[in-house]
Amino acid sequence: MKLNRIILVFCSGLLLYACQNIDESTDLSQQKFEEEIVYRNLDLPAIDVKSLNENARLAPSKYKAKLYMAEYITAPESEEMGRTVIFDNKGSKKLSIDFSPFEKLYETPDMSYYVDEFRASSSVDVATATAAIDRAAQTWDEVTCSELGLTKIDAIPLPIGIIANILGFPSIDGAIADVEHLGFMPAEFFDFLAPGGSNFILGVTFTLIWIDDEGNPIDTNGDGKIDAAVREIYYNDNFPWADGATFDVETVALHEMGHGLSQAHFGTAFIKKNGTVQFSPRAVMNASYSGVQTEIGKTDNAGHCSIWANWPNK
Ligand SMILES: [Zn+2]
Repeated sequence: MKLNRIILVFCSGLLLYACQNIDESTDLSQQKFEEEIVYRNLDLPAIDVKSLNENARLAPSKYKAKLYMAEYITAPESEEMGRTVIFDNKGSKKLSIDFSPFEKLYETPDMSYYVDEFRASSSVDVATATAAIDRAAQTWDEVTCSELGLTKIDAIPLPIGIIANILGFPSIDGAIADVEHLGFMPAEFFDFLAPGGSNFILGVTFTLIWIDDEGNPIDTNGDGKIDAAVREIYYNDNFPWADGATFDVETVALHEMGHGLSQAHFGTAFIKKNGTVQFSPRAVMNASYSGVQTEIGKTDNAGHCSIWANWPNK
């Protein structure tokens, strides 16, 4: 009798396990990927973030800056998952970064963004790509919990980019907006981020932070977050871009703009039996592209509101 009961308990346990297993093997296999943070030492000197004024003149900024991190999103066909690369010589812990309302580039709490029209994609014309990026910016601006005061800075007919300049691509090494979409770059640009990166990285956001005279990060508004100086976004021209189909400019712009507005990657990736990647939950801030996605999800919205709901009072 006792043995029977044990067997019964054992069997129902097995059944439960089998059920879970069936669920997982039809939807998701056991292979699970969390976002990895990679630390890389880069001994860059402190950067002078010169701001471009309306007369296209460069003015010095109050503080110096340093490159803190790069966050990149990957194509779904690759075995690679998007990453956060931290270029920090202390290299042990990821810091929280956010803009400080009165210590931004132009010392106003209104958020500004820029869309390059100089480094065009080889597959989507400038007007179409620009409109797609503007729609993405609009989508974040329309989230009702926040007042970003988002304004667009008019494009100038020159390539801009501090990081592009550092990596040897001809650029004005200044900044023109808080969040800058700086165009489509050749493959080589992305090999800097990861070996063979040009074949799997769709886009990247670089975060520069303000530092003091000793080179330490600063937090001027005392919100416990390091102050962002500027965010530079670049797209990989090694991929065939499209408007409303894969690889959709608006989808990737929405993701990068999310980084531009201080959101990190979110969601766990599972590799399904057929080899495709599925995210749980699916979100704009997933580290890998998973088809056209032009509306922000619940978790994206929550992430955004946790950062911006009280702006500019922080
Ligand atoms: Zn990303």
